[in-house]
Amino acid sequence: MRVLILGGTAEARQLAGRLAGRSDLAVTLSLAGRTASPAPQPVPVRVGGFGGAEGLAAYLKAERLDALIDATHPYAAIIAANAAKAAVIAGVKLLALRRAPWMPVAGDRWTPADTLSEAIEKIGSEPRRVFLALGRKDLAAFEAAPQHDYLIRSVDPVDPPLKLSRAQYIESRGPFTEANDRALMERHRTEIVVAKNSGGDSTYGKIAAARALGLDVVMLHRPSLPHVASVESVDDAVRWIDHVPAPGAERGV
Ligand code: NAP
Repeated sequence: MRVLILGGTAEARQLAGRLAGRSDLAVTLSLAGRTASPAPQPVPVRVGGFGGAEGLAAYLKAERLDALIDATHPYAAIIAANAAKAAVIAGVKLLALRRAPWMPVAGDRWTPADTLSEAIEKIGSEPRRVFLALGRKDLAAFEAAPQHDYLIRSVDPVDPPLKLSRAQYIESRGPFTEANDRALMERHRTEIVVAKNSGGDSTYGKIAAARALGLDVVMLHRPSLPHVASVESVDDAVRWIDHVPAPGAERGV
């Protein structure tokens, strides 16, 4: 069976690792190409966009894929929608592997925001010390609020830098522990964190650290994603693969 994993997440890499050695599967992992030096992957990788849903459908057909697993980040809404459309066009089985969101616990001080502009509003107009734990494409919006001191953490350099005179940049890939994120926030005298509700362990450090330090977190809402068959764990995704009918089986070949 030929399987394409849409990746860019730790779960996609873990799933690829679980499927890599299997002689009954040919697995390819797809990356958008956002990161200059992506982490090594345990299966063959293709890089770059497909050209929308139609492009992805054409790829699925040309590569004679049997199953598509959308293991992209829960905020990667465009590729998730494209995957849903493309799977229908190409007649390929689709599963979404989506992390459960973090739930607030006692001591968390979360303020929800639907959009980046709303997040900026929630920081307030008075200058504050803000930790932005967001992807590069979300950062430019904060140029609208240059009065704040920003600490910006990203995998690759933010290049060109933002038009913000009071920004400090750190490059780091994670995973991030509570202890390290707490030390970082204390060093930078962070007052407020802006985050996505990514779920999973690897970026939860800042949320736990904010709680320990009594800091507010402006939490961006997850985008709405297409309603498709989905699981929350790599184990369940492996089980799903094991139950996809072998190629030809449904046609009685
Ligand atoms: P997006 O807005 O949903 O997608 C934008 C375009 O990027 C898609 O239309 C597609 O181009 C291309 N694309 C996205 N993921 C791809 C993949 N895995 N393989 C091939 N092409 C892909 O996506 P995004 O939010 O920019 O995220 C890009 C990548 O970064 C994803 O792989 C995601 O898992 C990862 N990531 C995202 C976040 C986040 O906060 N958004 C955080 C961590 C990791 P075409 O239309 O040309 O096919």
